[in-house]
Amino acid sequence: MGLTGLDHELLLVRRGARSGAYTIIAVHSTVLGPALGGCRLTTYAHPGDAVADALRLAAGMTFKAAVAGVDLGGGKGVICVERGTELTHELRESMLLDFADAVESLGGRYITAEDVGTSPADMRLMAGRTEHVVGLPEDLGGYGDPSPFTALGVHAAIRACAAHRFGTADLAGRTAAVVGAGHVGEHLVRMLATDGAKVIVSDIDASKRSLVAELPGASWMAPEEAMLADVDILAPCALGGALSEATVPALRAAIVCGAANNQLTHDALAEDLLRRGILYAPDFVANAGGLMRVGAELEGASDEGARDRTRGIEALTDRILTEAAERAITPLAAAYDIAERRLSAPAVTA
Ligand code: NAD
Repeated sequence: MGLTGLDHELLLVRRGARSGAYTIIAVHSTVLGPALGGCRLTTYAHPGDAVADALRLAAGMTFKAAVAGVDLGGGKGVICVERGTELTHELRESMLLDFADAVESLGGRYITAEDVGTSPADMRLMAGRTEHVVGLPEDLGGYGDPSPFTALGVHAAIRACAAHRFGTADLAGRTAAVVGAGHVGEHLVRMLATDGAKVIVSDIDASKRSLVAELPGASWMAPEEAMLADVDILAPCALGGALSEATVPALRAAIVCGAANNQLTHDALAEDLLRRGILYAPDFVANAGGLMRVGAELEGASDEGARDRTRGIEALTDRILTEAAERAITPLAAAYDIAERRLSAPAVTA
């Protein structure tokens, strides 16, 4: 399926001249355009684990851009903080500058952005050493925080799922559980409440409970209960791996569609979801709004242009679900097929 194995164009592993830390850039594919992928700065037990993470995440980005119709390839950057390292402000800055030099050395083949452990302010620092960086703060011409776009895209995907499952995209009166009310989840909760859905808000951080008081029809539930709630829509918006061998058999939602990356602990679970009659929107389709916004930023499109493109996730999800139903395959398989068709015929717009 292309998400495993080593079929990458390039892997750069460099010890930073300033920081001594390993900076890793994996370019999976530039078939559709320069490889875009965030820069992850996090702790690993071993630098080899950081390399494996970069390779896996870069391949995922290729598929995400391909299926979303964005003219970008897939890449990923990792700054490996080795376990036990004391991450001072100075060391962190040295790591970011070393990483920016590595990005620059690739001459635009890889474009970096923020990811787990990095921020728009870090992108500003890197922009001093390389122009191949997006996700800059608004005062530097960027769109700032991508989360509202990601939430808009998830909402669009939920509408398409509802149309397939219930015959209408209208979400008024539907029940939805949003597990993880962070940057993306909170926006999504608000949009669903505005639609007139009855939203269950859930997070390990109890301070997020305050959202419930603000929104009509909203209620609070502990994450392990909310994951298995009897609802129309389950939106996993926390960390990856929420859909596992343990949770899938116990799910009671009719639709699973959320922002979290890598929701399935392995791809075969998409078959289990199909067998159980649960409509699963592939995560890399539903959460492509942030990527679409970056694509728009690179093309100089307006904010509204980026929003329109993100709303297009409703039509894209509809196409995937229709193709899956017609061919009796999972939506995940249909999404991979659409991506692969585009990758093998890059001149033709998907
Ligand atoms: P975030 O860190 O702002 O929010 C995550 C929230 O989930 C936090 O409030 C956290 O307390 C909560 N949480 C963590 N573990 C939990 C658990 N086990 N159960 C319930 N809640 C839990 O992150 P975010 O930016 O909102 O992103 C959410 C997910 O969407 C991530 O998987 C991210 O990779 C993915 N994603 C985000 C974007 C984006 O634009 N931010 C784009 C694409 C994908």
